[in-house]
Parts: sequence; C-alpha cells; structure tokens
Amino acid sequence: MNSFDRDHLWHPYTSMTEPLPTYEVASASGVRLRLADGRELIDGMASWWCVIHGYNHPALNAAIEAQLKRTAHVMFGGLTHEPAIALGRQLVALTPEPLQHIFFSDSGSVAVEVAIKMALQYWQGRGRPAKTRLLALRGGYHGDTFGAMAVCDPVNGMHQLFRGVLPPHRFAPRPGSRFGAPLLAGDLDEFERLITVHRDELAAVILEPIVQGAGGMWFYSADYLRGVAELCQRHGVLLIADEIATGFGRTGKLFACEHADVAPDILCLGKALTGGYLSLAATLATTEVAAGISARGGVLMHGPTFMANPLATAVAGKSIELLLASPWQQRIAAIEAQLRRELGAYAGQPAVAEVRVLGAIGVVEMREPVNMAVLQALFVAQGVWIRPFGRLIYLMPPYVIEPADLTTLTTAVGAALAATR
Ligand SMILES: *Cc1c(COP(=O)(O)O)cnc(C)c1O
Repeated sequence: MNSFDRDHLWHPYTSMTEPLPTYEVASASGVRLRLADGRELIDGMASWWCVIHGYNHPALNAAIEAQLKRTAHVMFGGLTHEPAIALGRQLVALTPEPLQHIFFSDSGSVAVEVAIKMALQYWQGRGRPAKTRLLALRGGYHGDTFGAMAVCDPVNGMHQLFRGVLPPHRFAPRPGSRFGAPLLAGDLDEFERLITVHRDELAAVILEPIVQGAGGMWFYSADYLRGVAELCQRHGVLLIADEIATGFGRTGKLFACEHADVAPDILCLGKALTGGYLSLAATLATTEVAAGISARGGVLMHGPTFMANPLATAVAGKSIELLLASPWQQRIAAIEAQLRRELGAYAGQPAVAEVRVLGAIGVVEMREPVNMAVLQALFVAQGVWIRPFGRLIYLMPPYVIEPADLTTLTTAVGAALAATR
C-alpha cells in the first residue's frame, strides 16, 4: 500500500486516521486491471457502472486524442462546440420523444441537483411556488451533494449526520413487487396516499427506475413504475427518472424506463455516458418543463465551469456510437444467463439470503454484513476486482467480458462465500 496515499489521500467513504487498504493500478485494458506490483485483476465492477466497453479502448482513446488536438476545454457560457451538439443530438434521439432539452454537467450528483432545480423552477414558472418538496423511495440513492443526499434513503443515506441541514422530503416504502412479477396488492398504497395528501407541496417524484443501485441493489416491478407514472400524471407532480446507474443498457434495455414504457418529465444520465473515460452527466427535460422554467422570463439557474467539456462530450458521443454498433442486447442477455446459472448455484447456501440477477447485474445478498477489507484481499488474491458493500456481493462487469473471465468472477464469489462460513 502506497504510504503517501495512505497518509494524505481520502478514498470514498473512508477515514483518514484508519484508512482501508488500497491497491495501486498501473494500467488497465479490456476487462483487466494491472496492479503496480504486477498482479492482474479481472474487473467485476466496471468501475461503478461506467466502463461498459472495457478499459483503454482504441476507439475511445482516438476520440479523445482527436478532440485534444482541437480543444480540450472552452467555456459553455455564450460558446458552443460540435462535440456537445453531436452528443445532444444522440441523446435526444435515444431517449423518449418528449425529452428534448439537455443540461450537461460534470457528475451524477450535479445532474440530480439540476433536475431538482428544474422541477422547482418549473412550478415557480407555472405560478405554483409552494410546490418545493420531493417524494422519493426508501432504498434509493441519488448522489452525495446536499440536494441529492436529501432524497437518498433517509436511514442509510447520511440523513442522521446532516440532520437539520437537509431539506425535508417525503419517502414512500421501497417497492416490494419484484422485477418480472406483477404489482403486489397494496404495494403502491402508501405512495398513493403520500402523493394524494401532499400534492400541493410536491414538485416531483424522484426515483431510480427498475433498479435501486447503491441503496441496496434491488430490482422492482415494471408495474410499480407504471403505477408511479400514472399517479404523477393524475396528481400534477413531475417524474424525475434517475438513470445514472441504469442508463446505456445495463438492465437489458437502453434505459430502464423502457421496461415499463414510461417517459419521465426529467431524466438524469451519467456514469456509463462516457464509457468511464471522463466525468460527465446530463439532465434532460421535456419541452413542457423547459417552457415552464422560462415562463415569466425565468432562466435555469445553473452553470458549471466545466459544463459540456469538449473532451468529455466527444468521448461520450463515441461511446454511444460504439454501444449502438455492438450486439449489446445479446451480450447483456448472455451475461444475464451466465450470472443466473453461476451465481444462482449459491442460492441455497446458509449464509446467502438471496441471489438476484437482472441484465448485466448479479447480486448475492448475504444474511450478515460482510467484512469488506477481508473480502477485498481475498478477491485480489484470486485475481479479481469485486467490491462488496453491506450485505451485498455483486457483479456488474464491462459488457465485453468473455464467458471464461465471467466464470472467474463468479467462482471467486463462491470462494468468498466459502471463506465467510
Ligand atoms: C452514482 C449515482 C449518482 C451520483 O453520481 P456521481 O457521479 O457519483 O455524483 C446518482 N444517482 C445514481 C442512481 C447513481 O448510481
């Protein structure tokens, strides 16, 4: 472990005085990370949903290199450029028809902040300034900045730490209805009660469609999502779909909303948007939302320094092109089938509460929380990069992973289960 890193560099959610071990990466290509000590790890995480085409991809490298020779960065205030325009065209074409207007920002959390601002400003423009609250789902995750944190799960989402500072929102129970199954009786009742009672103060519902990611890797019924969309319509509340994790094919559809044939009013994209090359996010809005924001002369009050960065938008455009030109549906379906077979074999083990798989996401939920540092070392010793959290050991590999490498990952999960016994 690098001693400067240990003494000076914070890593996500860690202590500076009692740091967890880190592993130094010297280079990466395809699905393999090469550590500074020469060991090679097969990547089971796609660097948190992002690296869908694998590392060091020649076409993505070339896109960045070509853009670098033109412009690395230029402000977006009053200026525009071809990579941003081209990416905008792609996103408008790929997402549901009503979404026509795009705000580029630099990270997922900021995309969520912008979505919340859009919703509040929309209602101001429509003469309903009291509509300032959001209705979110328990078990959700929407980012770590204050506005985003305030709509994360109130128990595991840091609300306790920042009590009194976070704006108070409303929370419906986590959906109980499973993906692929119809709505359970009563599952939407509390949501319906909340939206009915609080409609006059609610600006928007925000949720992760179909897959709740970092809040628990939970997959829920398309009927639930359809029900939410209908209730939003009926009660005059906007729907914000946070597809930062699910976007770009991970669940087997290009966007998870497609499982329920739902078109949100506002859509957040990030993570896999650049194929994992640079930090970039986008918030899309319908023409109605854009018109509402600008009614009474309003302007959307946001403007990051690195908005629509040319390198990031250029590589995002190429990443989307690569994805659409690839047999991504077959790849995801093959990964899904293999994960079902190979992780599914662990379902009966006493330490395992449940195995669930959707698209290129495989989750082994344990009965007890795992010791991340111990498991991490065990995984590295087996030549894989898998990073569990809480009670969850999960895989979401790059889409280009070969079956033999995926088997190495699932076998390592099996070894971790044996070791936790
Ligand atoms: C990761 C994530 C975010 C936050 O994105 P950052 O780029 O980490 O700020 C927001 N929403 C969802 C669903 C995410 O998975």
